[in-house]
Amino acid sequence: MVLTTFLEWFEQLKKITTKEQLYTFLFKLPKGGDLHNHLDGSTSPEWWFKAATDKTMNGGKKFFTRTQNLKCQDNNEPFLAYKNLRESSYNQLSDCVKLEYEPISTLNEEHKRNWLSSLKLDTSDKGCDEFFECIFPRLLDLRQDLELLTESLVENMRQLGDEGVRYLETIMNPFRFQDVNGNLINSETVASHFRQRLSQPDALATGVTVRFQLFVMRFAPDAEQQIEDAYAFVAAHRDLWVGVNLVGREDNEQGQPLRFLNTFRKLRRTYSGIQLSIHAGETAKPNNYIRNTLLLGATRIGHGINLISDPETMLLMRNSKYLVEINLISNRLLGYVPDLSLHPFPEYLRIGIPVCLNTDDRGIWDSNMTDEYYTAVRLFNLSWNEIVQLGHNSLEYSFVESEVKAKLLADYQVDIAKFEQKYLAEDWVEKLEDVKPVSSGYAEKNFGINF
Ligand SMILES: [Zn+2]
Repeated sequence: MVLTTFLEWFEQLKKITTKEQLYTFLFKLPKGGDLHNHLDGSTSPEWWFKAATDKTMNGGKKFFTRTQNLKCQDNNEPFLAYKNLRESSYNQLSDCVKLEYEPISTLNEEHKRNWLSSLKLDTSDKGCDEFFECIFPRLLDLRQDLELLTESLVENMRQLGDEGVRYLETIMNPFRFQDVNGNLINSETVASHFRQRLSQPDALATGVTVRFQLFVMRFAPDAEQQIEDAYAFVAAHRDLWVGVNLVGREDNEQGQPLRFLNTFRKLRRTYSGIQLSIHAGETAKPNNYIRNTLLLGATRIGHGINLISDPETMLLMRNSKYLVEINLISNRLLGYVPDLSLHPFPEYLRIGIPVCLNTDDRGIWDSNMTDEYYTAVRLFNLSWNEIVQLGHNSLEYSFVESEVKAKLLADYQVDIAKFEQKYLAEDWVEKLEDVKPVSSGYAEKNFGINF
């Protein structure tokens, strides 16, 4: 073996590694940031189960889940299996409906298996209706629990940190947390709680810097007011909150971008420095949503699948300051791009539209960041320079304050140089054997990789 540059070495490596070796190499790869990450959807069902049933993790709370449909006459809510409730919500149910629920902690093996499966979208035939209409409503009382969500954040930091991610810009709403009695928790208390948890030694030890984007459900009747509230909150909590996002199904036209043009223009008369990353073009169907979303002031586009069918906007975004946040596994499992080999990602990357790889709702996909890189390398034959560019972009286009960004970028360069030095060596196989990667359910099912 004649070792030259890492660029050339990586071309050889792709040919000679086993899939397990390539996965391990990519697991260890320094990866920069995860810019498109919904905190609610990023935690695994296994973790939720543990958190909902282990009193040392949840402060002694009890959660219930719906295991049967008794067609109670006093309940006209459509049946949703494994919908989860906190104890105070359960206590408000009628006697008949109460019988439909069981404590999560006493589920038998079969129900437990189904409960875990009910929070996963691990095949594309479940699709986006299951995702939006079932999985998120099932999680409701769990994800409104402040203690559980802060703990799940640290769990996410730990997992991402193990995979070489150093920055997480997660999408989270501080206005919707409820206490044990179902009363809304003041958003100041929420901010302090997150701030305090992030300063604990175990959170710091993950090596992951966290910032938040506040999201608004785009088709909500009062979305304009929510955007105004989001701006005010971000402006008052700039140590942790850096931007605003619009989320939710784009096939619901109530949420189309131009609805909000006047709102964003009005807010820009008052506020500066509030950045926008907005979901747009999360569909293969052509429309002008990405162009209109840039007009709203977004500098980052979440998904951007249908940008490929809008040539003028594509040209506008080439070599630009606008980045498309790519989420390959999400796009496949939600059925927007069933065959990922046809995903527009390589076209954007190779004509100079800034892109990076992200995990979106990886708890629900049962996947991780390595799976995104592994998919991209295998399907699109990424070069080493392209891999490094993706990591660099994920920090360069982040919304974190400039001093922190400069430090993250400098550290990233150092980490990449060290990584190159380590693996550009005759004994690369032995070095990879020392790494203990954690493979995901997605990797096992789709790549046949199981560590
Ligand atoms: Zn998303």
